[in-house]
Amino acid sequence: MSARTFQPDRMAGYTLPVYQARTPPEIARGEQALYPVIVVGAGLGGLTAALELGERGVRTVLLDEDDTVGAAGLSSRGICYAKRSLEIFDRFGVAERVRAKGVTWNEGDVYAGLERMYRFNLQPERDQKYPAFVNLQQFYVEQYLVERIMRTPAVDLRWKNRVVDVRPGPDGVEVEVECPDGRYRARCQWLLGADGAHSVVREKLGAKDAESALSEDQWCITDIRMSPSAEVVRKAYVDNPLNAGGAIWYHQMADGIWRTDWQVSQYPDPARETEPGRVTERLKKLLGPDVPFELVWVGPWRFRRRYLERMRHGRVLFLGDAAAQHSPFGARGGNRAIQDANNLAWKLALVLEGKAHEDLIETYDSERGFAARENVEHASRAATFIGPQTHGERLVRNAILDLARADPAMRPLVNVGRLSVATEYADSPLNLERGAPLEAPLAAPGCAAPDGRLGEGYFVDRLQGQFSVAWFGGEAPAPRGAQAIAVPRAGNEALFARYGVPPEGATYVFRPDGHVLARCRGIDPGLAREAIDGVLGYRAGAARRAPPAARAPGRLSPLEADRLYDAFAALLDGSAPEERERTLARLAVLLAGELGDYAKVLAAIDAAADSDRMRAPSGRRE
Ligand SMILES: Cc1cc2nc3c(=O)[nH]c(=O)nc-3n(C[C@H](O)[C@H](O)[C@H](O)COP(=O)(O)OP(=O)(O)OC[C@H]3O[C@@H](n4cnc5c(N)ncnc54)[C@H](O)[C@@H]3O)c2cc1C
Repeated sequence: MSARTFQPDRMAGYTLPVYQARTPPEIARGEQALYPVIVVGAGLGGLTAALELGERGVRTVLLDEDDTVGAAGLSSRGICYAKRSLEIFDRFGVAERVRAKGVTWNEGDVYAGLERMYRFNLQPERDQKYPAFVNLQQFYVEQYLVERIMRTPAVDLRWKNRVVDVRPGPDGVEVEVECPDGRYRARCQWLLGADGAHSVVREKLGAKDAESALSEDQWCITDIRMSPSAEVVRKAYVDNPLNAGGAIWYHQMADGIWRTDWQVSQYPDPARETEPGRVTERLKKLLGPDVPFELVWVGPWRFRRRYLERMRHGRVLFLGDAAAQHSPFGARGGNRAIQDANNLAWKLALVLEGKAHEDLIETYDSERGFAARENVEHASRAATFIGPQTHGERLVRNAILDLARADPAMRPLVNVGRLSVATEYADSPLNLERGAPLEAPLAAPGCAAPDGRLGEGYFVDRLQGQFSVAWFGGEAPAPRGAQAIAVPRAGNEALFARYGVPPEGATYVFRPDGHVLARCRGIDPGLAREAIDGVLGYRAGAARRAPPAARAPGRLSPLEADRLYDAFAALLDGSAPEERERTLARLAVLLAGELGDYAKVLAAIDAAADSDRMRAPSGRRE
């Protein structure tokens, strides 16, 4: 976030809590403990990690240089918390507080210019415990986590404790900490670097990024107080004439505060566009001259795209923004940090208890390293779609918008921010699938457990942070160290369909983070035992247990579709302007040949012609 921000001295209704710094035992009593875990940074990632670890009985010291929640006071950061994060918070009673205070939403409107093209629904299923998203100011979420940690005896949360140096060793790490009472050293078996984008832990370790680049695109957040709307729908505009052809986002959060976000790089002097006068002028155009509002926060921002080469550096593990950064399109940063913590804590707890080999931590590196790269790519591709930089990118983007206007099947190609969902660890070496795959790709090993009603409650309620074995359509004892969940078919048909359960029943094994570990047809206690033993005895470099199942051909994944977008744009940008039509014609002929389906090619030609006719009178740009 840049320095040019505007914020009134006081915001009615807002008082951030101030937490008391206490003298640490190292200074008060000269104690020299070896802590199992020290977490640096009490943001979304560090707080979730400390809570997960503390609730698993791991003695954890959590250090933060500040004495309150939120970054730089009331500054506006994350607002959208995804279903998966809510499921993770649920075990701690935090999700219900977030939902009660925040604004629930599932739907969004997509506009091109001033024309509303369509409304999407991220979660049409009604039988889920949590919605697709709850919007809430980030400082509230952090506050609820802090209050929950205060009731977790295993966590020692130390405010105004700033880590200034990190000294890694083969079996542990020493940190040097500055606090109001002076400087001290603390040692731990594992150090978690959750100290955000400007991570001191990362700097002191010299941990390298695989890539790092600052985006040229410039934006301006403008949070306003305005009457809440009964209809909670996220609005996303591209090419909005009320913003000189730039994009605009807006949606509501708690306390009658709305986040509006404006692309400003298209203006001759983007910095000027963040002045309160200019911001107010634009808002009046968007909302109408008579709609009353009050500015509560204005801040320009650009984003960095980066991720670490490795999430693990010996006994130091990175999570959240310390590990990766990207644009906020898709609401991915905080939700990723929460998932990082959720993935890591159970593995670390098992290793510290001596139940699993230290190599299990390597799977944190591979699974969450993948998640970091995937999130960076999704968020960056959304940025390209929203603010195309080249002629080719704009041409392909507009073609997608034209097609999506007429054909719902094309709408998944519109990328105004692919919103955060649980990462699928399809390539995890822990996964196990025996026999013919069940017909439920969204419940394959590596996926987060699909939810649904189970009796009076919900399926995800039953997982409770431990190894769990669900016997669908049967019953058997759970292996040692796991709980059993018997799911009868009668009354649970929707859940059976979601898990692709065949007539002979099915066995599903879940990891303590709620992801599917293993599955097979029929009731098979042997599979459950093998899957859990495989985790506890996991050794890096051992033969994979289950090669990733080949994906059904014929459907592009969202990332593949977005990568093709780039390839089309590069093709056009690489062609001389007078050659572009011929290039496109060649491409059409080649693709028709590859498709090899006469009726489908004719239908595609018709659809392209319809989109052309539809576009002509509106006279849109490009
Ligand atoms: C405009 C904007 C909109 C966003 N919207 C969303 C959204 O809707 N949804 C979403 O999920 N994400 C969103 N994000 C991203 C989200 O805010 C971040 O990804 C998230 O805060 C990362 O959490 P973290 O715990 O990794 O780091 P941080 O929240 O940055 O926390 C780091 C903590 O470390 C502490 N610290 C730093 N250095 C030290 C040190 N040396 N010693 C001790 N403590 C230290 C800091 O005080 C801080 O508390 C948005 C971000 C921006 C900028």
